[in-house]
Amino acid sequence: VDYYLQNIREKAHLNAFLEVFPEEAIARAEAVDAKIQQGTAGKLAGMVIGLKDVLAYKGHKLQASSQILNGFTSIYTGTAVQRLLDEDAIIIGRQNCDEFAMGASNENSSFGNVLNAADNTKVPGGSSGGSAVAVQADLCLASIGSDTGGSVRQPAAFCGVVGLKPTYSRISRYGLIAYASSFDQIGTLTHSVEDAALLLEVMAGADEFDSTASQREVPAYSQNLAVSGKKKIGYIKDTLESPGLQPEVKAAMENAIAQLKAEGHEVEAVDFPYLDYMVPTYYILTTAEASSNLSRFDGVKFGYRSPQATDLNSLYKKSRAEGFGPEVQRRIMLGTFVLSASYYDAYYTKGQKVRRLIKEKTEDLLKRFDFLILPTAPTTAFNIGENSANPLAMYLADIFTVQASLAGVPAISLPVAQDANGLSIGLQLMGRSFEEQELLAFSKYLT
Ligand code: GLN
Repeated sequence: VDYYLQNIREKAHLNAFLEVFPEEAIARAEAVDAKIQQGTAGKLAGMVIGLKDVLAYKGHKLQASSQILNGFTSIYTGTAVQRLLDEDAIIIGRQNCDEFAMGASNENSSFGNVLNAADNTKVPGGSSGGSAVAVQADLCLASIGSDTGGSVRQPAAFCGVVGLKPTYSRISRYGLIAYASSFDQIGTLTHSVEDAALLLEVMAGADEFDSTASQREVPAYSQNLAVSGKKKIGYIKDTLESPGLQPEVKAAMENAIAQLKAEGHEVEAVDFPYLDYMVPTYYILTTAEASSNLSRFDGVKFGYRSPQATDLNSLYKKSRAEGFGPEVQRRIMLGTFVLSASYYDAYYTKGQKVRRLIKEKTEDLLKRFDFLILPTAPTTAFNIGENSANPLAMYLADIFTVQASLAGVPAISLPVAQDANGLSIGLQLMGRSFEEQELLAFSKYLT
């Protein structure tokens, strides 16, 4: 804990943490030390973990990097976080992220940008940018983030760490601030696949507080990371031809494919007709869900209330106008539009249908193949400010991550190469629903 606290102080300019809990972390470390002496310590004894500012931890501030939750303190601990504590993990602090997890560069935080530790002029990715940099710069051993359309995987790729998004519903969402509930999933940012496996094993499983959490038994992922036999791996042809793909990212994919073949695995190019529809479908559905989820922040129940309000309507309007940042407001408006009576069928219903097609086609491919591989992101970490004036360019950065989110299948980003400037390139593996065991074992083999 002392080691990480010192690193956090020395690297405060990265802006990865919004808040650090030094006394509490040290006290817990002492208590865990005592348990270790007695031989009663849990599976995560001594693991120092940071939490993205979307995870409820009782008695601690929680604000999704937004001003609308200014002054809000969580009155309970979410299930995933509680399970970490029960296994003697040490929570060291709360991490910066894009406001309400909306973004791909951490530039939408009301607490300022997070800097990529490999090059401070580059973004860390998002929305779990602070969480990725915290692991990259050794400010904690592991971070817990959330992934709705890539928010764990893409920052992991940009920062050279391992980012796992489990199957939708594998980990309870109780205590996770909702962005788009049918996509949201808690995930991990770690140095190694082993750590991802261990954390998943601890956090996953049924939960009486989240009826959508899967009832399936949780395998001991960390105990079974050996790969058996040769695998069948598919990749979508068009991903390698897509216009904004950085040549070095393409080369990393081609190298990975060649290497897999050389090691005796079967690798095959496949067609996927819906590549162009993935980003639009994702944004129609997630903004719709977000507009509904974020309606609870009305200036009355949580956090910020505008001092300028004169009556109830102006209380709502002013609190929301002053409390939400521009990207969140844009998404609330987009989502309200696609859900409005006159456009519901044209956008929301159609979006649901396209999602179904993407899900079915993805599942079909995963019947033929053990895994699908694709880049995590089309480029390595881009310059701070490069995409921030152009939301559409920013949304296109999600092109390769939203498929797993639309389909609900597990996916992992692995740091496999670097570009000429030493920036990390992530390779993404998608697996079958609830087959994290196979996905993690093969990831370990690849890294
Ligand atoms: N970049 C995507 C978005 O802005 C992903 C965000 C996420 O996964 N939370 O919606």
